[in-house]
Amino acid sequence: MNCPYCLAPGTRMETHAHLGRDHAEQVRMSRDEAKGRLLFALDCPFCDEGLERVANPRGREPGFLEEFRREITLVAFDLLLYHLHASHAERVGLPPIREEAPAGGTT
Ligand SMILES: [Zn+2]
Ligand SMILES: [Zn+2]
Repeated sequence: MNCPYCLAPGTRMETHAHLGRDHAEQVRMSRDEAKGRLLFALDCPFCDEGLERVANPRGREPGFLEEFRREITLVAFDLLLYHLHASHAERVGLPPIREEAPAGGTT
């Protein structure tokens, strides 16, 4: 497959690692101090669908956030890869998903 940002070729795993290494800045994070949680968001490079999730550092020390940030970045790109596979497979050189989409989807 190809990286959705710079078209670098690689396997899905290689691309995942590449995204976390070279495109980590694509993942936006913000801290919700009041609730002690972390919000992260990542826009799809091909459509308006944004990914947004809440992560819970589970009482980790603030100093852990940098390390946590790395984990979150990889989680976010995993979600993006899943979305790319489901919606933009041909644009990143992935084989299209064959299984049928759920009928009467909720989105
Ligand atoms: Zn890239
Ligand atoms: Zn998309």
